[in-house]
Amino acid sequence: MPKLSVEERIHSFKEVALGYTEEQAIAEAKRCLQCKVPRCVEGCPVNIDIPAFIKFISEGKFKEAIKKIREKNSLPAICGRVCPQETQCMGRCVRGIKGTPINIGALERFAADWERRTGRIRTEVAPPTGKRVAVVGSGPAGLTAAAELAKLGHDVTIFEALHKPGGVLMYGIPEFRMPKDIVMDEVNYVKSLGVKIETDVIIGKVITLDELFEMGFDAVFIGTGAGLPRFLGIPGENLCGIYSANEFLIRINLMKAYRFPEYDTPVKVGKRVAVIGGGNVAMDAARSALRLGGDVTVIYRRTELEMPARREEIENAKEEGVKFLFLATPIRFIGDDKGWVRAVECVRMRLGEPDETGRRRPIPIEGSEFKVEADTVVVAIGQRPNPIAVRGEKSIKLTSHGTIVVNPETYETTRRGVFAGGDIVT
Ligand code: SF4
Repeated sequence: MPKLSVEERIHSFKEVALGYTEEQAIAEAKRCLQCKVPRCVEGCPVNIDIPAFIKFISEGKFKEAIKKIREKNSLPAICGRVCPQETQCMGRCVRGIKGTPINIGALERFAADWERRTGRIRTEVAPPTGKRVAVVGSGPAGLTAAAELAKLGHDVTIFEALHKPGGVLMYGIPEFRMPKDIVMDEVNYVKSLGVKIETDVIIGKVITLDELFEMGFDAVFIGTGAGLPRFLGIPGENLCGIYSANEFLIRINLMKAYRFPEYDTPVKVGKRVAVIGGGNVAMDAARSALRLGGDVTVIYRRTELEMPARREEIENAKEEGVKFLFLATPIRFIGDDKGWVRAVECVRMRLGEPDETGRRRPIPIEGSEFKVEADTVVVAIGQRPNPIAVRGEKSIKLTSHGTIVVNPETYETTRRGVFAGGDIVT
């Protein structure tokens, strides 16, 4: 995939991956073996007929390709960019057994971008059923559920807590990985199916689930994601200059802090930035901080091999100048007399036996404490579900992690007529 030059990247929030040209897409599509039993499809959460759409691309039939994708996926420009394809479709591709798997995500993105350039294809919508569905949350789960329900002829309204639809695609993923106009384009596609979107409505606070049913909705789908930050719980974590990744990225992505003062919300990034964590959110925070002028070090308690972030994003971060400190974990933050963070005290780790996730467990090495200077810290160690939509709803059962319990076949929660999906379930 062609990319923007490093020089251009580090001074802007422009999209890094540039996408295939028609010739490149056709050449990549021609590598597909058109397997009789396509393992790639098994790896796709929405079971797109991958060989079929790739064949269309190989023949230059791009309209047919996007039509085939849209049969199963309403958000191809988004999925082609940010789905973890290496553990999904591409991870199963037979071409990957002895060589390089087909870059299915890049081909999906190509077809979706071709549609954006040349005009949207028409999607059939079934006649109205007279049934109304409320969808809570307009992130990937909510948009997908809303689109599928609308195609079946239901009358769908999405309720979004923030002032813009898109959920994590808007507030969490930076512009250089997921341009906001592309998110809005996909949102507009969902709207074109007849879906209505109400922003600035917090279900569970402004309107309860009971009230949604009183308003005449026949069913409710909850897709509120996992937007509650986790913290380390170590001394000094409330010093000034320490952000949760959520706050840091929301300021930058949703509130456009990187264009302050043109936009109202500022973000403070010091000279030395420490990002704690090894997932995609940590990479997004690190690469955003770097673009805002920070000298960025990612601190991760295992080695590069165990990092949950996508390889591509780790490579991008390295190319751009993000530094990595592996096998280290913070044990306290040290501040100055004005209450601002100045350093992170860490301890070195070694890897022990694999834990329940299959990754080797990090074990602290006694007496190996050391300090990393930092005037800005971003804690990116994972998110938890925000229970606000179902707060006080005794009929809806939650797990000990705060995720919603659903029937694995129907995705219905323990309250009849209320369904859930996406990160709030997984
Ligand atoms: Fe093509 Fe790979 Fe899927 Fe086979 S597994 S059909 S080679 S993309």
